[in-house]
Amino acid sequence: MTSRADSAAGAGGVVAAEADAPPLISIRHVFKSYRRGGQVVPVLHDITFDVQRGDFLGLMGPSGSGKSTLLNLIAGIDKPDSGEVLVDGVDITRLGETELADWRAGAVGFVFQFYNLMPVLTAFENVELPLTLTRLPRRVRHEHVEAALTLVGLADRMEHYPSELSGGQQQRVAIARAIITDPKLIVADEPTGDLDRQSAEDVLTLIDRLNIELGKTILMVTHDRRAADRAHAIMYLDKGELSTAGDVFERSVREARR
Ligand code: ADP
Ligand code: MG
Repeated sequence: MTSRADSAAGAGGVVAAEADAPPLISIRHVFKSYRRGGQVVPVLHDITFDVQRGDFLGLMGPSGSGKSTLLNLIAGIDKPDSGEVLVDGVDITRLGETELADWRAGAVGFVFQFYNLMPVLTAFENVELPLTLTRLPRRVRHEHVEAALTLVGLADRMEHYPSELSGGQQQRVAIARAIITDPKLIVADEPTGDLDRQSAEDVLTLIDRLNIELGKTILMVTHDRRAADRAHAIMYLDKGELSTAGDVFERSVREARR
């Protein structure tokens, strides 16, 4: 795990000391369409960009522009029609279903707009769930879960069910679940979209800490200007095509096209 402490952030949030390392994410010429009743609906058109290790990128764009689709491709939840999706050196488009599921369990944490917690499980059990797929002994699993729930400020809510928690608390449980296997990458799809202003601030502060203190690379879709302001740079998606804003992204496109 990398930490920001030994990789001094440069201008515009570029992580200077890590600039020589290969990007954590490299998207190359990704096309994606959906078939709807015999009709092909193009969604992503020739997407190419990099995300450097330790970066915190925001992804904005109108509803229906393909933001969630792009996030799902990067998280290995869906596959492109063509193109490469390299995450930490692995082209995940080439993995079979079982390999992809294994990869997903360890390599990426996903935070959804509506939390996606299991209603019949407590906060503790929700966070433990990804670890039940690993070989970690029960005692170690429990230590990890307690540490993650403490990090998100919910040490006193471990035995609560999602219905007994506020939206902001549920999203913090979801963040604990996203980091429990210690993935390098966190993707968040409108993580504050369903929250009141204060809960949104709390969740954003937490995501910031994952980036700064734990060195997680963050890719976050948002409509919220305050959320976007936390990111080091913003990418815009419109009608399935990316446009640029911010030096990190422009650098990323330059490097990707070299
Ligand atoms: P955004 O997250 O930017 O709002 P999405 O990625 O969810 O956009 O969707 C982009 C487009 O793809 C939309 O037109 C949507 O209707 C379509 N789409 C998304 N998922 C599917 C699917 N599973 N089947 C068919 N069409 C889909
Ligand atoms: Mg979406």
